Amino acid sequence: MGESNRFTPGVLLGALVDLVLPVVCGGCGRPGAQWCTRCAAVVADVPRAVTPRVNAGVPVWAQGPYRDPLRGAIVGVKEHGRRDLVEPLGSSLARVLVTLARWGEVPDARRLVLIPAPTRTAAARRRGGDPVEAYCRAAARCMGPDVAVAPVLRTAGWVRDSTGLGAGARHANLRGAITARTEEAPALTGPGAAVVLVDDVITTGATVAESVRVLAAAGIQVDLVVVLAAAD
Ligand SMILES: [Zn+2]
Repeated sequence: MGESNRFTPGVLLGALVDLVLPVVCGGCGRPGAQWCTRCAAVVADVPRAVTPRVNAGVPVWAQGPYRDPLRGAIVGVKEHGRRDLVEPLGSSLARVLVTLARWGEVPDARRLVLIPAPTRTAAARRRGGDPVEAYCRAAARCMGPDVAVAPVLRTAGWVRDSTGLGAGARHANLRGAITARTEEAPALTGPGAAVVLVDDVITTGATVAESVRVLAAAGIQVDLVVVLAAAD
């Protein structure tokens, strides 16, 4: 929480609520810690390769399955204002990236460009910032000065909610809806830095595949996709 936010009404209200309600874990709901050691241990499990229904053409890795405690934490950040979970989720994203570098999936975990998958801008603003970008920034803070975060993808506001659509329909729904700010492309293609597209949840893979395609068209080659959680 930045200094500038300290006296905003929302933060004051949050502080008052903290006085009244005990802190509960964002993963399992147990009182005592915002992100308990049990949940942290589950999420620190080894990353797994994912084969989404819509093929992105690059390797996709997930930190874990879209089940609790990960699901509880992701929904908590996205829907219930649990911004206190950004830091623990971001640092476990950093651990996943370090593991993937050790496995040779990226050449060097200290030299990365993290591109957050697009969120509808207005929706993100309403929720107090894009959570995926926040995870990337939290991970980058753990990983050193040569890990950059490049939020170059945008989703048009008119994209339908894809809930209930099949893989093909989701992909069609996204065609033309994701754009990349191409003027930032040259700065991203520095020597030796792997480009990693990051999202919170992958379901069909349509958003990821369309993002990879749009970035390639803008001259940015994605090397790897890493998501916090993969839905079955
Ligand atoms: Zn827990």
